[in-house]
Amino acid sequence: MNYAKKTVRDVDVTGKKVLLRCDFNVPQDKETGAITSDKRIVAALPTIRYLLEHGAAVIACSHLGKPKNGPDPKLSLEPVAVRLSELLGQPVLFAHDVVGEDAKAKAAALQPGQILLLENTRFEPGETKDDPALSKALASLADLYVSDAFGAVHRAHASTAGVADYLPAVSGFLIQKELEVLGGAISDPKRPLVAILGGSKVSSKIGVINNLLEIADTIIIGGGMAYTFSAAQGGKVGESLLESDWIDYSREMIAKAAAKGVKLLLPVDTVCADAFAPDAKSQVVKAGEIPDGWQGLDIGPETVALYCAAVADAGTVIWNGPLGVFEFPAFAKGTQAVAEALSKTSAITIIGGGDSAAAVEQLGYADKMTHISTGGGASLEFLEGKELPGVACLLDA
Ligand code: ADP
Ligand code: MG
Repeated sequence: MNYAKKTVRDVDVTGKKVLLRCDFNVPQDKETGAITSDKRIVAALPTIRYLLEHGAAVIACSHLGKPKNGPDPKLSLEPVAVRLSELLGQPVLFAHDVVGEDAKAKAAALQPGQILLLENTRFEPGETKDDPALSKALASLADLYVSDAFGAVHRAHASTAGVADYLPAVSGFLIQKELEVLGGAISDPKRPLVAILGGSKVSSKIGVINNLLEIADTIIIGGGMAYTFSAAQGGKVGESLLESDWIDYSREMIAKAAAKGVKLLLPVDTVCADAFAPDAKSQVVKAGEIPDGWQGLDIGPETVALYCAAVADAGTVIWNGPLGVFEFPAFAKGTQAVAEALSKTSAITIIGGGDSAAAVEQLGYADKMTHISTGGGASLEFLEGKELPGVACLLDA
C-alpha cells in the first residue's frame, strides 16, 4: 500500500467548497447525551482552521455511534456542532439531514471562511453500504474531498471512501501524520524495530502478529495472550486467559520467529492473582508455573527488566496491547514500567490500539511518545498490513 498521499497543502482550496470527513464519533454520557471527551473534535481543529484560513467553505461530516434504522435523535451530531463552534470561536451551521433539502440549501449558500456540519452520515442507509447514490449526492455538495477521519479509514463507506470516486480527494493533517509515522514504521523503519504485543486475546491480534513477524527485529509478548503462548510451550497457566483454539497457532508463530531470526520474547515470570479483581491476593511465579486457582494478570519483575532492556536500544518501537490488566492499579506495573522505559529511549515510539492509547494516557506517558494513533481499529488494520479503503482512495503524492 502506498502511504504517500496528497494533502490539503498540495491543492488549491481557496474559494472551494470542501467536504471534510472528520471523526466526530465522540463518547457520550448514556443518560444525558453530553459529550464526555472532546478530544476528537480538538484533533480536527488544525485541518479545519487551515481550510477556513485559506478561504475554503467547509462542509464537515462524520458518523456518530451505530444508528440502526435511520435517524435517531440520541445520535444527532448537533451537540458536536455546538462544541466545535465554542472551540473554533465562530458559528458552525448545522444541517438537519445528510444530503437532503436542508444540507443542499445550506451547502449551496455557504461562503468562504464559513463552516457547516452535516447530520450523522449513518442516518443514511447508504453510508455503511458504500452506496454510489449517496457518494454522488455527498460529492455534489462540494468541489473537493478532504479526509481527516483516521478512525474510520478501515471502513469502505460512502463518506469515507466512496465519495472519492466523484471528487478529487486529499488528506488532512491528522491522516497525514498517521501515514507518515505508522506508514514509515512499517515500510521503512529505523532499526532495530521492536514490536510489543499484548492485550487480551491472541485471536484478536493474529493479523498483527503475523505481519509484524515479517518486519520486526524483536517481538515482545505480554498481556493475556502470553498465556496461550505459554501453554503452547507446555506451561501451566492456571485460570489465566487461555484460548485453546489458538495454541497451535502460537506454536507456529514461535517456530516462524525462530526460522526468520526474529527475536521473540515471552514472559519469564508473571504476577498472578486468586481472582480477577482489583484487590485480589497476588504472588509472583515463574512463567508456566501458575498454580491451579490462580490467574496471570501482569508480567513479573524479571520480565519487566528483560523487556525494558529490549527496548532500550531500539530505533523504533510499535506497541499494541497493554501488558497486564492496567485498569487495576495493582496489575498495571508491567505496562507502566515499559511505558516509562519507552519514555526514556531515543527510539520512535508508536502506540496503536484503543486500550493501549488509554493505558498510556492514564499512566501519564502520553506526551512522552512520538505518536499515539487516533484510530483504534484503523491502527490495528494498519499494523496488519491491510489496505485501508479510506487511505487507498486518496490521490497519490
Ligand atoms: P488494544 O485496544 O490496545 O488493541 P486489547 O483490546 O487487545 O488492546 O486489550 C486490552 C485489554 O487487555 C485490557 O482491557 C486489559 O485489561 C486486557 N489484558 C491485559 N493483560 C491481561 C491479562 N493478563 N488477563 C486478562 N486481560 C488482560
Ligand atoms: Mg481494545
